[in-house]
Amino acid sequence: MKTLIHGLLFEEIVAAVQELGAPAFRGKQLWQWLYGQRVNAWAAMKNLPADLRLKLEENFELAAVKQLEITGEEGETRKLLAGLGDGECIEEVLLASGERRTLCLSSQVGCKFACAFCASGQAGFRRNLAAGEIVGEVLLAAAIWGDRPGNVVFMGVGEPFDNYDEVLRAIHILNHGEGLAIGARRITISTCGVIPGIQRLAGEGLQIELSVSLHAPDDATRSRLMPVNHRYPLAEVLAACKVYAEQTKRLITFEYTLVRGLNDSAAQAEQLARLLAPLPARVNLIPLSPVEGFAGETSAPDVSRQFIRVLERAGLNATLRDSQGSRIKAACGQLRIRRLNA
Ligand code: SF4
Repeated sequence: MKTLIHGLLFEEIVAAVQELGAPAFRGKQLWQWLYGQRVNAWAAMKNLPADLRLKLEENFELAAVKQLEITGEEGETRKLLAGLGDGECIEEVLLASGERRTLCLSSQVGCKFACAFCASGQAGFRRNLAAGEIVGEVLLAAAIWGDRPGNVVFMGVGEPFDNYDEVLRAIHILNHGEGLAIGARRITISTCGVIPGIQRLAGEGLQIELSVSLHAPDDATRSRLMPVNHRYPLAEVLAACKVYAEQTKRLITFEYTLVRGLNDSAAQAEQLARLLAPLPARVNLIPLSPVEGFAGETSAPDVSRQFIRVLERAGLNATLRDSQGSRIKAACGQLRIRRLNA
């Protein structure tokens, strides 16, 4: 297997071209082709000598991620199924609203965490993505949009903190000022509450946005929806979030999927408000997307509105999000599962 060129940091690219016998400035030129021009063919790198291009092609893979299928039309939410070098496939969601382009990335092929209402969790875990594949996801979306995404969210398939090193490496590549230059504050990591990951990220000195899936205000309900709660219970997750907020000076977003009769009562909203009171927090309420294998139903609109009113009365910033994946009949993980079952 060749090394994925998009998995190398800037300094590693410079070192790599030097090892191939070229001067350091060729590394900077190569970086520009990769992330300034975003070319996907060695032959297109016109200012690199032909013998260096040949050596690069012999040693490095340039196209780690390829488009297999795309839903939706230009200018609206689109779901992309992408193929990897070993035949595995992953999903991305391209969210466009006016000039704003947000890319929802996968961090793993499948997921170990088995959240009850998640198609990805139901399909099981295959492997971690390499940093070069994660960066490849961004470049594929940039090719479709004709421009880089303004915001990147790790909310697709997989638990980013279960693949910490490769996700962080990818973030450093996306963040590099002479490349895609996607600022840390425009990158969100969404976790089901993996405490060691929250703690590590707090110490990185980066202002990455953190989003934590709660989905319930008590351990019993949360454990029913999210088995990870047995290992990392609510109080401990929130304590780690508090440290994260103190160290990064960032608000934390808490995701809460409303499931009819399970976690959507006014009493549960009050309990949630009490839990989050000590934190700089905002709450994203998400209507449940129907998923095969989970019997839960979407909350009634008046119940959702009541839930949000309780949070707002308690002084919390809360929004009811439109589940865009559900609108295109392909919520998280469902495109990939359809292909696995085909
Ligand atoms: S919601 Fe996220 S962490 Fe939970 S199973 Fe799905 S991909 Fe994994």
